[in-house]
Amino acid sequence: MRSAVAGLELLEPRSVNEALRMMRDRGPATPLAGATDLYVHLNSGTLKPRRFVNRWALDELRRIASKRDGLSIGALATFTDCLRSPLVRRRLPMLAAAAREVGGVQIQNRGTLGGNVANASPAGDALPVLAAAEALVVLRSTEGERRVPFSAFYTGYRSTVMRADELIVALEIPPVAGKQWFRKVGTRLAQAISKVVIAAVRDARPRIALGSVGPTVVRVPRTEEALASGASIEQARRILEAEIKPIDDIRSTAAYRRRVAGNLLACFWKETS
Ligand SMILES: Cc1cc2nc3c(=O)[nH]c(=O)nc-3n(C[C@H](O)[C@H](O)[C@H](O)COP(=O)(O)OP(=O)(O)OC[C@H]3O[C@@H](n4cnc5c(N)ncnc54)[C@H](O)[C@@H]3O)c2cc1C
Repeated sequence: MRSAVAGLELLEPRSVNEALRMMRDRGPATPLAGATDLYVHLNSGTLKPRRFVNRWALDELRRIASKRDGLSIGALATFTDCLRSPLVRRRLPMLAAAAREVGGVQIQNRGTLGGNVANASPAGDALPVLAAAEALVVLRSTEGERRVPFSAFYTGYRSTVMRADELIVALEIPPVAGKQWFRKVGTRLAQAISKVVIAAVRDARPRIALGSVGPTVVRVPRTEEALASGASIEQARRILEAEIKPIDDIRSTAAYRRRVAGNLLACFWKETS
């Protein structure tokens, strides 16, 4: 049954600092971005938080800017913002490719990059991109700011190092050299959550990240090392299939995911050669 809206409280900060003070002084208070994930819980009656901090009007969190030769993407940037940004399309085309395949247009217009990261689903489509690009998660509280390497942000299934008084304010992406590649495999192209999703960068140090094949998004260092040291794609594929830990769930089976991940690795290697 749908959660009752009457008992919920919505706080409307006018600045990021005010939002952070609300989270500190009036907690527990859950940050709200596009609400595309939170509404699912509201609709199914599984929404636990009662007080929300609505940051949708805080445009300062929506900026996409050049940072040296890399990028800084505000946490409130939507998938549509990412798709339309010439900077993203030029410097991080694999993020534009991922944004194009998230949900339908309505979800792309409301769903944010920060929400995708904070929601911590192993199937989040932007997560392999950020993992392969070796992004930094910029977290801010009233006490200050810290930058967490993407590889250290997730601690397990749907858990992160983020504290209850912290907000993700931006994702910082260092310059990415080499060819970028993204592919999502789902039941159909639109409105389907990934069965397997991969983002990869090909240069002297290949970087490969996959979603939906473990409790969190994963990098595959043994596969990366094999490719960097000249192993054949068949050898690398066998290493990858042993390295990932997919499970059977409502969307797919472990065996299918393992096979598809291997196929995707081979496609990446062929199409970027
Ligand atoms: C029909 C449908 C289709 C979808 N398809 C896809 C898909 O194809 N691929 C995909 O990856 N996802 C998909 N999603 C999931 C969802 O749209 C994305 O995860 C989206 O990026 C969530 O962003 P949001 O701004 O709506 O987050 P919200 O729903 O506002 O928040 C999600 C969670 O993150 C927290 N949060 C949000 N922003 C911050 C922040 N800046 N700092 C700290 N915590 C924060 C919230 O408190 C909440 O716990 C789909 C959802 C729906 C309903």
